[in-house]
Amino acid sequence: MRGNNRFCVFLNIVDMHVYSENNGARAGETLMRNMRSLVKTFFPDAQLSCENGGSFCLITRDEAVEEKIGKVAKGVRLLGGITPVLIKAGIYEVPPDADPPISELLAYAQTAESFIHDEDGVLFRYYDDTLRRMLANREYVRKHLSAAIEGGEIKVFYQPIIRTLSGRIVGFEALTRWEDPILGFLSPKEFISAIEESRQINILDSFMIKQICKDLREGIDAGIPIRSVSFNLSRLDFHLSDVFAFVENAVKEYRIDRSYLNIEITEKILSESEQIRMQIRRFTDAGYKVWMDDFGRGYASLNTLKEYDFDKLKIDMNSAAFGSERSKEIITATVVATKRMGIRTLAEGVETEEQLDFLRSIGCEEVQGYYFSKPLPIGEIEATLNPKGIVMEETEDAALFDEAGREDISDDRARAILLFCGERFEPLLINRSCELLCAEVLGTDKSLSDVMNDPSSAFFRLICDRMNACAVRGKEDCFVLHGPNRAFVLRLKIIASNADKTILKIEAEKADLVEMIS
Ligand code: C2E
Ligand code: MG
Ligand code: MG
Repeated sequence: MRGNNRFCVFLNIVDMHVYSENNGARAGETLMRNMRSLVKTFFPDAQLSCENGGSFCLITRDEAVEEKIGKVAKGVRLLGGITPVLIKAGIYEVPPDADPPISELLAYAQTAESFIHDEDGVLFRYYDDTLRRMLANREYVRKHLSAAIEGGEIKVFYQPIIRTLSGRIVGFEALTRWEDPILGFLSPKEFISAIEESRQINILDSFMIKQICKDLREGIDAGIPIRSVSFNLSRLDFHLSDVFAFVENAVKEYRIDRSYLNIEITEKILSESEQIRMQIRRFTDAGYKVWMDDFGRGYASLNTLKEYDFDKLKIDMNSAAFGSERSKEIITATVVATKRMGIRTLAEGVETEEQLDFLRSIGCEEVQGYYFSKPLPIGEIEATLNPKGIVMEETEDAALFDEAGREDISDDRARAILLFCGERFEPLLINRSCELLCAEVLGTDKSLSDVMNDPSSAFFRLICDRMNACAVRGKEDCFVLHGPNRAFVLRLKIIASNADKTILKIEAEKADLVEMIS
């Protein structure tokens, strides 16, 4: 109940040290000075109790505390110039009849601030009952972790990873779940950071690794064409245990080929000590694949990718504020640059068909997200995915599609990618400009896929002949095709093939006859 209560407010400049590193110590001091005067302007009656490397703590009776924090935030944002400076605030409303020491008030406000995580746009948080409950839960999970593992309350869920070109499952990400008899279902958000803080994360991850290997062995024995499972490692796993040795032992115990396992690490690990970098190299040297997780969420640049033997980059669609032209441009540039480095791309957090179509059209090789499926218990994978037509990719097709995935298809040329399986072409990707152009080339209302599925059509036969010639000559083919009203240049390229399948790329453009003659 608000009356004339006191509020303890902890205001913190986000990544103050980064600001000082980038702009120099003097600029940092100026920023602090300006922030102090903003605080004094908007909280004229407040008691400024302390100030420390990018943070301020004040006690105020101003009931418009949230609004005032907003004003300080707006002012600070402008102070940063081209790199806007962000602040976050923790608030503790002191109960009317209480008079705890300032250090205690500060601790509450500071705790509230520290629980504003990646939630974009969140400016302040109260130390309230929700947070109190959360802190109690954190305490609870720390105490009960080992018992929960032993009691089977911690489970491995699997989320499928789908190849954009084939629409088939190429692997899974293993994600931890906790079903507690008292607290109910806990998501990793509610317990991972708690057990990281208490330095117990290696207990959880060791369990996960063993369980994944056990599940893989059962799947292999049951003849399921499982390909690979990726799992998350925390930077603390490297500090707290010999995680490499642990993975090796699990792999030996369950007779799993190392190629089945991918390790997901976030960019935060890379700023760690040389010792951690060496441990990551042990994984890659031994034949495990290492993926960079959550790209786009932090400050990682593509340059860091080159220094390590990353096999795949996971682009976080949640942090891309997908939809704007700018975000699409950034994702496209990331996919193209990553591909050039020989690293593959996977977009995670894909929720809509629009996102999927876009990612496929720019050549992002794999996707993962609620659009296809939530993470599932192992026993529910088949029953959930099969009715939706989401099935595992055949093992022998993997190399073929992997090779096709290397092709840069990011520009908006009229383009079709087709899978030839002996007697028919299956469209893997036909972009809109290609459909439009083909209608003109062929002078028909039929879609390109219909035409390519009709062995009696002249176009089908022409493409087959040209493709066979390409296969023999091992080159691209380029020829002019005369449509009913004008001529077109068609370019064919076999982008990948195996014993019985060929992936063919066709690009088409209107031919400028005058230019061709001269
Ligand atoms: P992550 O590795 O980036 O995992 C992807 C997260 O995105 C998962 O959250 C997944 O459930 C969620 N997700 C999947 N599809 C979508 C979608 O379409 N939209 C949205 N909004 N989210 C989607 P989850 O399972 O809650 O895990 C959160 C994070 O906790 C993981 O992020 C990972 O960093 C960590 N984590 C999970 N399991 C483990 C584990 O066994 N060990 C360690 N060390 N960390 C883990
Ligand atoms: Mg992950
Ligand atoms: Mg991620």
